[in-house]
Amino acid sequence: MKTDHSFDAVVIGAGPAGSLAAYQIARAGFSVLLVEKHPVVGVPVCCAEGITVEGLTKVVPLDRRWVCSDISRITLHGPDGTAVAINHPAAGYILDRTIFDRDLAARAAAAGATLWVNAEAVGIVSADGQLFDRVIVSRGGRTESIGCRIIIGCDGVESLVGRWAGMDTLLLPENMDSAAQILLGDLRGLDQHQMEFFILPELAPGGYVWVFPKSPTTANVGLGYTPSLGDGRTALARLKSFVDVRYSSASKLATNCGGIPAFRGRKIMTNKNVLLAGDAARLLDSLSGAGIANALLSGKYAGQTAAEYLNAGAPRLAMLRQYPERFMRDKGRNLRYLLYARQIFMKMSTQDFNDVVVFLKSVFDGKTIHEVDAVSIIKSILRAKPRLLTLARHLFW
Ligand SMILES: Cc1cc2nc3c(=O)[nH]c(=O)nc-3n(C[C@H](O)[C@H](O)[C@H](O)COP(=O)(O)OP(=O)(O)OC[C@H]3O[C@@H](n4cnc5c(N)ncnc54)[C@H](O)[C@@H]3O)c2cc1C
Repeated sequence: MKTDHSFDAVVIGAGPAGSLAAYQIARAGFSVLLVEKHPVVGVPVCCAEGITVEGLTKVVPLDRRWVCSDISRITLHGPDGTAVAINHPAAGYILDRTIFDRDLAARAAAAGATLWVNAEAVGIVSADGQLFDRVIVSRGGRTESIGCRIIIGCDGVESLVGRWAGMDTLLLPENMDSAAQILLGDLRGLDQHQMEFFILPELAPGGYVWVFPKSPTTANVGLGYTPSLGDGRTALARLKSFVDVRYSSASKLATNCGGIPAFRGRKIMTNKNVLLAGDAARLLDSLSGAGIANALLSGKYAGQTAAEYLNAGAPRLAMLRQYPERFMRDKGRNLRYLLYARQIFMKMSTQDFNDVVVFLKSVFDGKTIHEVDAVSIIKSILRAKPRLLTLARHLFW
């Protein structure tokens, strides 16, 4: 099959990871094609849109047009109704992902990337059985073969690029959470600057319910849980039972559902001349399910490493190992620890959760903090409640 077009690099998926990767490659002076299967970048949104200030601004300069709400308060509700409220000026943002994703893709295009929407990658090909040198793209009823020297898969949680490249991207059922979200309108008494989390082991085993305000009267209300701990009820059915009780008079403006994979380490970040970034590489915080910041950072490092590889001329695959090295140096310890905390979280009883929230209330309630370091908070919980460590003993022996 002859190639219809050729680029130095092809990036598959125009989410945050893909747009950052394409931006880095274009900025370094190489030709890059960014393909997005949907007709509009950033639509549909399947995300609660929360991100910390650091997670965003460490990678891209903030544009206020992306921000729906500035978050300065976090409230955690335990199963028995005990609540701990923490003031945290400049904790994070609730974004408008439609504008955010579109702007990041536009930034990549402005740097020189070619963006195709309505263009779905359907396979990758290796002519010599060694390196992958083509991406097959279905666009406008036609199948096109795109020549390239490197491929970056940023195709999200349902990624196929890794599998095409021979990586083992399958997840065990206990390592894939299921989530549903409803955008609620006509809310009364909502605090636009407060994020709320509800730990409800009966309703959301292995997960939690969130309320992330987008305006004084609208909020992303969602539920994530671990299906292997459940009874067959879907995330949406569980969420509806929460919403019907707590927000019975609100209007339901949009509904979406998605999967949230647990972190897999560096195992599926590279194979041959294919890199994976963002959710495709399972680079999420396994406790909260947050993945936007890691998608941005991994997309940036994948793009930078790809540009260095392209710059070397002859294919030097060893150079691509720099990509997982860079990302893990920055985030590996944190993500491993959160995965470990998830193993404990999944085994905690309702009483354990009540005890933890009471402990957090005694330490944090009504206080103002300026930095949230999840790892330090988890360590302080484990020091105060060493019994919880026994829930994770299978990790040690
Ligand atoms: C309900 C829910 C709530 C969440 N809330 C939060 C939150 O509040 N904060 C947070 O940090 N994270 C959250 N996450 C996770 C977050 O949404 C992801 O981690 C993040 O979007 C990952 O970015 P990405 O670029 O890797 O993938 P995505 O944003 O999923 O982008 C992948 C893109 O690839 C495209 N694509 C896929 N296959 C192909 C193909 N074959 N060809 C061309 N294009 C393709 C898709 O259409 C999509 O545009 C949530 C997830 C869910 C499900």
